[in-house]
Amino acid sequence: MSSPCLFCKIIAGEIPAKKLFEDEDVFAFWDISPQAPTHFLVIPKKHLSGPGAILNEDEALIGKVVRIGAQLARENGAEQCRLVMNNGAEAGQTVFHLHLHVLGGRPMSWPPG
Ligand code: AMP
Ligand code: ZN
Repeated sequence: MSSPCLFCKIIAGEIPAKKLFEDEDVFAFWDISPQAPTHFLVIPKKHLSGPGAILNEDEALIGKVVRIGAQLARENGAEQCRLVMNNGAEAGQTVFHLHLHVLGGRPMSWPPG
């Protein structure tokens, strides 16, 4: 039975996405609605609903998600970038499969809205 999760479907190739990187643990793809000249998402292949669902056993995996995000940013001309994980609907999370936003290519303001 296929997963109801949008990002699990992207990992499985059931929904098309512009893939940037894939290995046995991690998948990265360009955001469909970019908020900066560079905007992609890095996700663990393991389904976790968000940062609040990370277990001790996932620590290395999530560290890898962040490392790959920074590396891909560098490789795509956005070494200076913002890495964001939204945790919960009030924080702006709309897809409940943990994802790291990587945004770059323009100056960023703080705090975010
Ligand atoms: P969030 O609001 O933090 O849950 O971020 C979800 C992100 O997923 C948004 O930036 C969306 O534009 C992006 N998104 C939703 N559907 C797709 C899709 N099919 N392919 C690529 N990005 C998507
Ligand atoms: Zn999922």
